[in-house]
Amino acid sequence: MNNILSFEINEIRNILQGWGEPSYRADQIFDWIYKKLVLNPLDMTNLSKTLRQKLLEYFSFQIPKVVRITGDGNTKKYLLELEDGENIETVLISHKNRNTVCVSVQVGCPIGCKFCATGLIGLKRNLETHEIIGQLMVIQEDLEKKEEKISNVVYMGMGEPLANYDNVIKSIRIIKEEWGFNIGSKHITLSTIGIIPKIYQLAEENLKIRLAISLHASNNELRSKIIPINKEYPIEELLESAFYYAEKTGRRVTFEYVLIKNFNDRREDAKELVRLLKGKPAHVNLIPWNKVREYPWETSDLKDIFRFKEILANSGINVTLRISYGSKIKAGCGQLRALYLKNKGETI
Ligand code: SF4
Repeated sequence: MNNILSFEINEIRNILQGWGEPSYRADQIFDWIYKKLVLNPLDMTNLSKTLRQKLLEYFSFQIPKVVRITGDGNTKKYLLELEDGENIETVLISHKNRNTVCVSVQVGCPIGCKFCATGLIGLKRNLETHEIIGQLMVIQEDLEKKEEKISNVVYMGMGEPLANYDNVIKSIRIIKEEWGFNIGSKHITLSTIGIIPKIYQLAEENLKIRLAISLHASNNELRSKIIPINKEYPIEELLESAFYYAEKTGRRVTFEYVLIKNFNDRREDAKELVRLLKGKPAHVNLIPWNKVREYPWETSDLKDIFRFKEILANSGINVTLRISYGSKIKAGCGQLRALYLKNKGETI
C-alpha cells in the first residue's frame, strides 16, 4: 500500500482530483499530518466520511515502531523497527533551543568506511521516502510532549544519502516545504562521503541545503585507507565538486574530519589540509575519533587535537572542534543497532 508520507502535496492533489475532490483537501490532509501529527485519517474531522474512508483504504499512514530509546543528557537515540522488521536508528540532539534530528537513509551502508560501525553491516536496503519522514514523525511526536519542535535535520545517520538519491531528495522537499515540516533549507544538512556526480546533481536541485563532506584525510593515500570509494572519487575532484556546490548555492561547505591518533592528526596532516582549503568557502569540523570496538583506531591525544585545530585556525580556516554528544550512549553511526542485534544474538 502507498504510504502517504512518501508523497508531496502536488501528487496528493492529483490523486484527489481523480477522486473528484477539490485540491484544497490535500492542504487539509497535510495540515493534519504535519502540523497536528494526526496519522489516522478517520480523525481528520474536516474531511467527509467518504474521503476519510477512501484515504484509509488507499494509503498507509504507518511510521516506524520505537523499539528502544536511550538517553544521555542532550542526546536521545531511537532504535526503530521498519515494517519488514529491519532496524534503523535516529538521533535527537537537543542543545541551546535547537532540536536536531540525525536521520538514517539506508539499512546498513554500501560504502564500508574503515572507521564506521554501519560500514560493517554492508547495505541491506535503501529506505523509502516515508521511512525517512517517519523518523521525523516519531521524534516530533516525542517532542510534542514538551511542546517543542524539530528545528534542524542532518542526514548523517546510517547510510550514504547520495546513494539513495531520489528518496533523500524527496524527503528533503517534504521537510523543507511549508506544507510539510516547514524547516528552512539552511537548517537542513546533507552529509556525504563524496559521491561526486551526485554532488553536481544536488547543486542543480535548487534546494540550497547545507552540504557536509566527510573528508577525514588530507591526501589520497591516507583517505583511501579508510574510505574505499576515495579511489573512485579522489580528493582533488571531490573538492572541485564541493566548491561548485558552494558557488551554485551560496553556502560554504563543511568538511568533517575525524581525528584518529597517529593516522591523520599529525602536524603535517593539518598543514596539508590548510593547503587544500585555504581561501575556499569551507568550514572544518574536527571530531575526535569515537572508538568502535571493532576497529583498531585510537582517540587522539588532547594536545594533538588542539594543535591540529590551532594550525587550521592560524591559517584563517574556519574550524570548530566538535565533541560528539552521542558518543557516551553509543550514538555514533550505527552503534546502537549493532548492539541491539548482538543482544538478539544476530551477527552484523
Ligand atoms: S561513514 Fe557513512 S558512508 Fe561510510 S560506511 Fe559509515 S554510514 Fe556509510
